[in-house]
Amino acid sequence: MANHKKISDARKDFPLLDQMVNGKPLVYLDNAATMQKPHEVIDTVTEVYTKYNSNIHRGTHHLSNVCTEAFEEARIKIQKFINAGYSHEIIFTRGTTESVNLVANTFGDAFLKEGDEVIISELEHHSNIVPWQLLRERKGIELKVIPITEEGELNMEVFHSLLSDRTALVAIAHVSNALGTINPIKEIISAAHAKDIPVLIDGAQAVHHFPVDVTELDCDFYAFSGHKLYGPTGIGVLYGKEKWLNKMPPWQGGGEMIKSVTFEKTTFNELPFKFEAGTPHYAGAIGLGKAIDYLTSYQWDEIINFEKELLDYATEKLLSVDGLKIYGTAKNKSSVISFLVDGIHPYDMGVMLDKMGIAVRTGHHCAQPVMDKFGIPGTVRASFAIYNTKEDIDKLVEGVIKIKSIF
Ligand code: PLP
Repeated sequence: MANHKKISDARKDFPLLDQMVNGKPLVYLDNAATMQKPHEVIDTVTEVYTKYNSNIHRGTHHLSNVCTEAFEEARIKIQKFINAGYSHEIIFTRGTTESVNLVANTFGDAFLKEGDEVIISELEHHSNIVPWQLLRERKGIELKVIPITEEGELNMEVFHSLLSDRTALVAIAHVSNALGTINPIKEIISAAHAKDIPVLIDGAQAVHHFPVDVTELDCDFYAFSGHKLYGPTGIGVLYGKEKWLNKMPPWQGGGEMIKSVTFEKTTFNELPFKFEAGTPHYAGAIGLGKAIDYLTSYQWDEIINFEKELLDYATEKLLSVDGLKIYGTAKNKSSVISFLVDGIHPYDMGVMLDKMGIAVRTGHHCAQPVMDKFGIPGTVRASFAIYNTKEDIDKLVEGVIKIKSIF
């Protein structure tokens, strides 16, 4: 059996965590916004630039070949990580946002027509709302929105009733960044496929919390970001089924995505390069490959149980604070807690926690419709990663109680 690392040893792998903020040891609970990076990832990116940096593909010289090989190896790691059928189904992008925009601009522009409907949900991140609104402006499509319940779960009855002959795509988050809800995407995908409707999943908040198998899910597209997966910023992934990627027109034009160019006619490169115009962020891609090596050096069961324990502990402790309300109480939740304390604006809470060295996110979390649904300006959000501890949560709760006593 493979030798897996222990989560209890994870914290020491993250150099950034070992620092003082405002005179207090840093407590980093802003992981849903971005994760910290382990040494191995930082060292790998440094190694690219210190040992073999060179523009990839088409190179005849040694460095270019080494760099190209490392870049393509990263693609294969990602393919295996999400169990895609082929490595050419893995398109490197800047992140989830660019991945969704790629689909809206290629699949959307080529295959959707006026009157067609795209189903999204009330808990989407803006990056899975606005690209479809822009498409609506370009093509006259309609957006249908699955409402959420008071617990922050999708109203599945409404979802099923929204599926119709006019539905051209369903685009749904796997996990809500604002509420933590894990959506029943398997049910969504099966129901959509029963009517031949393709499905895009925004996996930005999922891939680092539990295993994702795109073949088993059978989704048509799956998008995620490297920086939320313990990897570098500026790199992300769009998985797309080969059958769609082959049919979709390219999005951005430039080097790498062409086979031949004359002023009369340009022919396009094969997959995945057709969608990777220009010099890609190869150092980021190679770093992302290393982040996946790092994450998978732990056992998924251990990660899931550990994060669940943190979530349960934090939920119980926070709920013991008088006047504190948690938003997002779905049965199936990832390690994200959004809350408000009576009479305290989330921004004030965030600023005061920061004075205690505690980093949380406050505001609408790029999910304004969720805040509108609950009639609130925003929330305070604490989100956990494998390097967090129960002591981090104790400090958060102590901080909240102290701030409450001041107000
Ligand atoms: N989708 C979800 C659910 C997110 O949480 C985020 C970022 O917070 C995004 C999309 C956008 O990711 P990025 O900014 O890395 O493109």
